[in-house]
Amino acid sequence: MNDNDTSQDTELVECSQCLKEIPLSEAKSSEGADYVAHFCGLECYDKWIKEKQDKED
Ligand SMILES: [Zn+2]
Repeated sequence: MNDNDTSQDTELVECSQCLKEIPLSEAKSSEGADYVAHFCGLECYDKWIKEKQDKED
């Protein structure tokens, strides 16, 4: 078994909705054509998607 311990180089990303810093490994992500958005949880993901849809006509 290959036990990779990534705790020593945890990459942090910012939640695109609430701007909280979260480990990349725990982030939900949404990839668009020219962006990648990260989220701390599905709640933020849902909010972000809805706000984005509201802005787009
Ligand atoms: Zn968030």
